[in-house]
Amino acid sequence: MADPQIEKLLIVQDRDASLQKTEQELARLPRERAALDAKIVAETENIEAARHALKAKELARKELDSEVKTQEAAIQKFRTLQLEVKKNDEYRALTQQIEQAETAVATLEEKEIHLLLEIDTEQEAFDTAKAEIDTRIEIQKRSITQLQERENNLKATLNEARASLDEARAGADSDYLQHYDRVRKLSKRPPYVARVENHTCSGCHLRVSNEVAQAVRESGEPHFCDQCGRLVYL
Ligand SMILES: [Zn+2]
Repeated sequence: MADPQIEKLLIVQDRDASLQKTEQELARLPRERAALDAKIVAETENIEAARHALKAKELARKELDSEVKTQEAAIQKFRTLQLEVKKNDEYRALTQQIEQAETAVATLEEKEIHLLLEIDTEQEAFDTAKAEIDTRIEIQKRSITQLQERENNLKATLNEARASLDEARAGADSDYLQHYDRVRKLSKRPPYVARVENHTCSGCHLRVSNEVAQAVRESGEPHFCDQCGRLVYL
C-alpha cells in the first residue's frame, strides 16, 4: 500500500527535477553567449587585420609616388643647372645625374605598378571576405538575440518551477522532507525516493535486505535502502 507521505515526496522530487533542469539550462547560457561573443570578436579582428594590411600597401604606394616626384624635381633642377654651367665636365656630370635619376624613376614606377596590381587583387579578396564575415556576424548576432529570448523564458520558467516546488514541499510531512533533503545531499544523482522492485532498489539497482523488503510494506514511517541510503517505497 502506498504511503501518502511518499506520494507527496514523489511530487516534490518531480518538481525538484524540473527546477534543476531549468537551472542547469540557465547555467549553460553564459558559456554559449561567451562563445558567440568570442566568434564575433575573432571575425572582426580578422577583417581589421586585412584592412590594416591593405592600408599599409596603399601607404607604401603613396610613398613611392612621392619619391617619384622628388626624383622628377631633381631632374628638373639638374636641367636648369645645365643651362647655367660653362664647363663641359660639369655639364657631363649633370647629364649623368639626370640619367641616374631617370633610372631611379623607372624603377620606382615599376614597383608602383606591381604594388597597384597587388592592391587591386587584395581589395577584391578583402571585399569578398568582408561580405562573408558580415553575413556570419549577422547570424551570430541573431543567435545572441535568440539566446536572450531563451534566457527570459527560462527565468520565467524558473520562477514558476520554484513556486511549484515550494507548494509541493509545503504539502509534505516535515519529517519525510528532512530525510528527502538529507538523501538528496548525499546521493550523487536522482532518484532520491526510489521504488523497490523485485527486492531491488531502483536507485542503486542493488538487492535490499529482507528486512527492508519487508519494512517497505508498512506505511506511516520512512524506509531506507540499506545499500545506498535512499528513501524507498513499494
Ligand atoms: Zn539503494
